[in-house]
Amino acid sequence: MENPVGNLISNLKRRNISGFYAKTISQAKELAESFIPKNSCIGISGSKTLDELGIVASLEARGNKVFNQYKPGISAKKSLEERNLGAQADYYLTSVNAISEKGELVFFSGYGHRISGIANAKNVIVICGLNKITLNLEEALKRSREYATVLNCKRLNWPAACLAQGVCRKEICLSPDYKRMCCQILIIESEINPDRVKIVIVGEKLGF
Ligand code: SF4
Repeated sequence: MENPVGNLISNLKRRNISGFYAKTISQAKELAESFIPKNSCIGISGSKTLDELGIVASLEARGNKVFNQYKPGISAKKSLEERNLGAQADYYLTSVNAISEKGELVFFSGYGHRISGIANAKNVIVICGLNKITLNLEEALKRSREYATVLNCKRLNWPAACLAQGVCRKEICLSPDYKRMCCQILIIESEINPDRVKIVIVGEKLGF
């Protein structure tokens, strides 16, 4: 396909999802920040993409209230509080595990806070590198589980069945010997309210 992003953005529009293209990571950061008023509060998900963007520190520095469950030294109780507050914030900022060329967004989650935030927030901003675009929904689900989640388990040293060998072993992952990360899956096929969900597609590899 010559212009996958152009087609993807048209496909997203049909689904009431606003798609934008940013050529570079820094343009993506600037664009995402321009969508968020400085006086609004923001929930975030754990995300290598957001880490690489450095957007959380930047939003905090300009005065936004960010419910950050990953603050260094935060207690488990406070972290849970921040996750719950973040899921109801004015804006929810996240990445996506995969997006199909037709515009279906796939999110996997362990505890479900990310899914709650994405499903309920008044405004959702999703950042997505070109590397996360798949041919179809089936491939998007496969990518989310067998590639992205396996790497996330490794990144977080999460004791799921994929941790030891670095490949998905879903056939044994429900055993009490493991802590499964693939617990909840959200697929956004379309939105009722146009512009609730904005997605910035970045013309570079970003996250995994
Ligand atoms: S199903 Fe289990 S083994 Fe497979 S990727 Fe998810 S957490 Fe890992």
